[in-house]
Amino acid sequence: MLQLYSSLGRRVLPFRTVVPGEVRMYVCGVTPYDVTHLGHAFSYVQFDALRRYLIALGYRVRYVQNVTDIDDDMIAVSRRTGRPIAEIRDENDRLFRRDLDDLNVLRPAAYPFATDHIPQIIDATAQLLDRGFAYEVEGDVFFSVERFPRYGELNAASLEELARRENPEAKFAAKRRHPLDFVLWQHTEPGEPSWPSPWGPGRPGWSIECTVMSITHLGEQIDIHGGGRDLIFPHHENEIAQAEALTGRSPFCTFWLHNGMLRLDGVKMSKSLGNLVLVRNLLQRVPPAQLRLYLLSSHYRSDPDFRRGDLERLEERYRRLRVAVGEAVVPGWPSAADLPRAVREALDDDFDVPRALDILDDLAARVVAGTAGTDERAGICAGLAVLGFDFAGAPGPATGWFEPEPADPK
Ligand code: ZN
Repeated sequence: MLQLYSSLGRRVLPFRTVVPGEVRMYVCGVTPYDVTHLGHAFSYVQFDALRRYLIALGYRVRYVQNVTDIDDDMIAVSRRTGRPIAEIRDENDRLFRRDLDDLNVLRPAAYPFATDHIPQIIDATAQLLDRGFAYEVEGDVFFSVERFPRYGELNAASLEELARRENPEAKFAAKRRHPLDFVLWQHTEPGEPSWPSPWGPGRPGWSIECTVMSITHLGEQIDIHGGGRDLIFPHHENEIAQAEALTGRSPFCTFWLHNGMLRLDGVKMSKSLGNLVLVRNLLQRVPPAQLRLYLLSSHYRSDPDFRRGDLERLEERYRRLRVAVGEAVVPGWPSAADLPRAVREALDDDFDVPRALDILDDLAARVVAGTAGTDERAGICAGLAVLGFDFAGAPGPATGWFEPEPADPK
């Protein structure tokens, strides 16, 4: 039975869903103010593999991933370059999606843009005000963390501890009642993109966007919420508070899954440090499936350290797996029932893909040496297909609008 580690409660739990047989999965998408890098690819490839495993286990999976297309960074880049936000967004989003297509990542069932949800965001903000979870100060609306007693639960920290740790959205410090109160709606400065609202022209806060898009496309309660570990605070803590205050239902999400942060030579990869590694540059050196193999060779919760030669060192394994598969590809969607038992045990154990790959590679070595049987070869194919390798027959990105039955958002 599949067990997954949830950041909420910080423990490994047997996987279960709100609606039996159906998985509602939301993964925080990118803010396309610039090109994406290998760290993004690590996150989306990991969640893609998990989605595929859930499908192989027989779940109907509805996967939603958003685009944060209005925020301080988008506005800053637009100002600096003199280009409209939509143009910057579309250009970076196109490159990002091409990278994911190349890496054989299934496309989301819904791919919502924040700016397409302004009426719903205004409505949610108005409801939070009505219910006393929010307050307005001169055109800015804040969520009051003291009104939500479980605030801090995801981070296992009190308000005092969290406030000591960080001062998010510092520009609002003088206006808000508590240092952790976060903005739901903010008034805009002249020249910034804005929308009319009951509180004057403005734009949404960051966290309310994801809550509204999740509820709109998946309903009030979801099974898996994914994202990078750097989103646990404040973004995901805020999302829980907003959603549960809005719907009165708890938990908003059962499994909070957070991937680790990819580093380059021991340093976190980030734009400000100028140490970005781009997928498209790596794909000039190695085939996409070999890069996918690299990204899945670290556990999703680990912090992989990308170093020179890492990709090339995987070449032998990559070739061995390909030779072992040969022409024996899996037609259609693979089933978990066809996986070698040890592989299934590894995947069930908090989705231990690196261990599963080690087992598959051992089997591949036996196939190549001529000491394995047909069953073993079929097991390798099933394993690699479940993990999304196209050469083993895994369905490609365009088949990712996999939605046997539409969700029924209430
Ligand atoms: Zn988000």
